[in-house]
Amino acid sequence: MNLHEYQAKELLAKYGIGIPAGHAALSVEEAIEGAKKLPGPLYVVKAQIHAGGRGKGKFKELGPDGKGGVRLSKSIDEVETNAKEMLGNTLVTVQTGEAGKQVNRLYVTDGVDIAEEYYLSLLVDRASGRVAMIVSTEGGMDIEEVAHSTPEKITTITIDPAQGFMPHHGRAVAFALKLEGDLNKQAAKLAKQLYTAFMDLDCEMLEINPLVETKDGQLLVLDTKMSVDGNALYRHADVEAMRDETEEDPMEVEASKYDLAYIKLDGNIGCMVNGAGLAMATMDIIKLNGAFPANFLDVGGGANKEKVTAAFKIILSDPAVEGILVNIFGGIMKCDVIADGIVAAAKDVNLSVPLVVRLEGTNVEKGKEILENSGLPIVSANDLGDAAQKIVAEVKKVA
Ligand code: GDP
Ligand code: MG
Repeated sequence: MNLHEYQAKELLAKYGIGIPAGHAALSVEEAIEGAKKLPGPLYVVKAQIHAGGRGKGKFKELGPDGKGGVRLSKSIDEVETNAKEMLGNTLVTVQTGEAGKQVNRLYVTDGVDIAEEYYLSLLVDRASGRVAMIVSTEGGMDIEEVAHSTPEKITTITIDPAQGFMPHHGRAVAFALKLEGDLNKQAAKLAKQLYTAFMDLDCEMLEINPLVETKDGQLLVLDTKMSVDGNALYRHADVEAMRDETEEDPMEVEASKYDLAYIKLDGNIGCMVNGAGLAMATMDIIKLNGAFPANFLDVGGGANKEKVTAAFKIILSDPAVEGILVNIFGGIMKCDVIADGIVAAAKDVNLSVPLVVRLEGTNVEKGKEILENSGLPIVSANDLGDAAQKIVAEVKKVA
């Protein structure tokens, strides 16, 4: 689950990490109120969307000369003008794709006098099985670009989870940033605080870009992106409450309510499968037959009628879907129970596209009988290859 910058900063502040003061705002009035609580004379109005590159982004509504989603403002009046131009408009950045994202929230922060910009991020490095800290003197830039053109400017420090964060890790971070004196000490301390926060909050990724050195010698987190492990949210009610569903794919949000693992893809064949491995194999074999899956959908082990109906509705709410392939292995669940669920769900949603069903497992014959006697135009398949061929042929027939 991704968090907004202001939410991530609120969480990080609890660890004593240096962050410029700021206030979130849902309206122009709130933005002005927020700015009035700050010392001034420089304010920054920042669009809050789940995407980076806001500073260099452009608002669709403002044309090519419009300013971006991070704006320095020299007075409360400027804060007001900027808030008005941003709220409700669509910001397009390198990370949003062409469609952009509507800005519904702002963050008004205390403007910082920047001396240097650095880069620091933490992520779970699967290759080493450790949390890795990635550090660079090249802050405020696209880190992928730095990695590509000047890889020597990036240092990676990994932390053994059994040992935890040691003082030498902090010194390595400070050294990589080429900091001396008090700033060197601040960097080592900050690295430890960030690691503690990362572990405590069950983060998947925490990126500080830029980490800045102010003209009066403070290290501050100027921008941050945080993503937390959705499976660990039960341990963090405060983080869970920060979820902003308007930033997520509406169908994926709906699916998560029914505990369905759903990911939207670009093809036209909807898939309903139980088990992630079987779902992957189903998508592969659809591709092998020359078509593309419209989604990944794992209904899980205990798929009942309610879940199957919800899954059908979610698949069908995607206008790109021209046919559905159901591929279920009745192991714990019996095939006849699943078939009942499919028939009831298909009737419930007034199924309007071809449906191919492949069942295998306990009571498979009974299951097939139920499908045949349902009076619905369901095409039964014998194995995975047969099922994929049939759904691809059915969709071509309609097209
Ligand atoms: P991003 O474009 O989405 O990564 O948003 P950032 O929060 O990183 O802001 C982009 C850039 O705006 C930063 O790299 C800074 O150069 C600049 N910026 C942001 N906040 C301030 C500030 O308080 N003072 C100054 N002088 N520049 C800022
Ligand atoms: Mg940034």
